Amino acid sequence: MRKSRVIEIAHLKIGGNNPVRVESMLKTHLSENFSHISEELELLGATGCELLRVAIPDEKAIPLIEKIKNITTIPLMADIHFSEKLALKAIEDGIDSIRINPGNMGMASTKRIVREAKFNRIPIRLGINAASFKEPTGKGKKVAVKLVNILLNIIREIEKEEYYDVIVSIKSSDVPTTIWANEELVKKVSYPVHIGITEAGIPPEGIVKSSVGLGVLLAEGIGDTLRVSLTDKSYEEVKVGYSILKALNLRTRGVEIISCPTCGRCRLDVQNIVREVEKRTRGLKDSIKIAVMGCEVNGPGEAKDADIGIAGGVGCGLLFKKGKVLKKVREEEVVNELLKELEKNT
Ligand code: SF4
Repeated sequence: MRKSRVIEIAHLKIGGNNPVRVESMLKTHLSENFSHISEELELLGATGCELLRVAIPDEKAIPLIEKIKNITTIPLMADIHFSEKLALKAIEDGIDSIRINPGNMGMASTKRIVREAKFNRIPIRLGINAASFKEPTGKGKKVAVKLVNILLNIIREIEKEEYYDVIVSIKSSDVPTTIWANEELVKKVSYPVHIGITEAGIPPEGIVKSSVGLGVLLAEGIGDTLRVSLTDKSYEEVKVGYSILKALNLRTRGVEIISCPTCGRCRLDVQNIVREVEKRTRGLKDSIKIAVMGCEVNGPGEAKDADIGIAGGVGCGLLFKKGKVLKKVREEEVVNELLKELEKNT
């Protein structure tokens, strides 16, 4: 397993033996009513977002850094695309970290930002992606190697400033290119690596692309922080991030719901029950596995590692715990009874 150097963003430790961190990006535009920003922050906090990128499009956004920091404990990373001035202003106004793409900004500006970040002891994420350089374009192994070499040159320049508070990332919207680039990158650096697939799209395609790309990398021990970039709500990105980590046994947080695919034996409305259970257990921080199985023939047995579950019977549901049936409940009461039993155990 790769062990990277540990970087701290506010109270959040990234890299080393720390768990893979789950990030997202604030999607409410900073010019919108602040109550919308605060609602989004609440949902992100409830789903377990550990690091939040905030796009700083112009100077009007700078005073909002302090306002946001006053209502959330999630560490913030200012996302600066082209403007050195905005990056310096965000550091001056107390941002916890900065994400820049030197491909958009140039080395002279990057170095001035690095000096300021060093003085203020905040980390920088150096994020490059295939789309932000004139060369290389496209996808493939050659592109991946070129991207790594570009990033290594940038890192060498930054290290001349004796600054090592760095998280690195190389992304592409092409899954194999992202995988190759990150596999190559970790052979060369010990900095924590942020992983993600850019422009992954809407669910389910975006979830599939991200799960495949991030899943391969995480299974190889690559990735210290991740973001699932979806054309969807930011808290959905966080939920999918945790689901990927859960699937690889890398993190356990909240409720894991397993459900059968249903077949001709099914005696419950599995889809609706799963939706209802998911809705009503959202925000639970304990790591619990709940099973919703369509029939009593295979349900309790197949889901015996679940902490609690429900299986369809004839005109009823069977409530079971670790594979053992506790009682029969009325079909319309299955969700309530399941949640009542869950409460006793949490
Ligand atoms: Fe079919 Fe029962 Fe298995 Fe669900 S648990 S797939 S209903 S056999």
